[in-house]
Amino acid sequence: MSLKGKTALVTGASRGIGRGIALRLAKDGALVAVHYGSNEAAAKDTVEQIEAAGGRAFAVGAELGVAGDAETLWTGVDDGLRGLGAGAGVDILVNNAGIGRSGAIGEVTAAEFDRIFAVNVKAPFFIVQKGLGRIRDGGRIVNISSGVTRVAFPDIIAYSMTKGALDTFSLTLAQALADRHITVNSVSPGIIDTDVNAEWLRGDPAEYARAAAFSTYNRVGEPADVADVVAFVASSDARWVNGQDIDATGGSRL
Ligand code: NAD
Repeated sequence: MSLKGKTALVTGASRGIGRGIALRLAKDGALVAVHYGSNEAAAKDTVEQIEAAGGRAFAVGAELGVAGDAETLWTGVDDGLRGLGAGAGVDILVNNAGIGRSGAIGEVTAAEFDRIFAVNVKAPFFIVQKGLGRIRDGGRIVNISSGVTRVAFPDIIAYSMTKGALDTFSLTLAQALADRHITVNSVSPGIIDTDVNAEWLRGDPAEYARAAAFSTYNRVGEPADVADVVAFVASSDARWVNGQDIDATGGSRL
């Protein structure tokens, strides 16, 4: 599944699942634009890890969920590619950046609702729209969704709804871009050990055991478990997979 000669943009790649995806795509040979929101040092650390392994990457900053976010991001990608003497445009876009909010129906404020949809849904939509001229024909768009679209978690209702919207985006966009042979798919992780889950997951062995029991392997997932699936979906081997939501929950028994 070589990605040699390909260019990838991974949003939210300064840490967690996004970093895992960036490392894996670079390992497969892609030049990777490592996007970050505010933590430039962490993004540079991802870049350094890629370079240390013999790959090529650069960091690109853009706060998502604010006016003009997609333009800022793509301008940064254009500049970064030029800086490395690489050709313009990307073959692979991974919309990974996202936020979670543990709120039940009675708790979510209008501002929180708007914010989570702005980051998790509106930003990926306009990153694609503003990037249509930069994503190459035959390319790949991968949206990082979640297993919560298949199993109800009432405590994170607004978050779950954003991922449902993202899956519909994948399904519909796949048709819209079919004539350009750009595939669009979602990859849906289960519970993954990242900073966003650190507070409840790493601090309490009982919670960890409960989370681990969700997967058939009786362990919590690692970023690499998701990154390996994304690498397949991003590869030419996945040409016949389009408009799908690929489960990466470790066979959730929820
Ligand atoms: P994380 O919080 O560790 O990383 C999220 C990344 O997105 C960070 O790099 C962060 O800087 C970036 N980001 C968030 N908001 C941003 C903003 N407004 N502007 C710019 N960048 C922003 O989370 P993670 O666990 O690695 O999650 C990555 C993706 O996977 C998310 O879309 C999340 O919903 C999804 N997911 C995670 C899990 C899990 O258990 N960790 C499960 C299912 C789905």
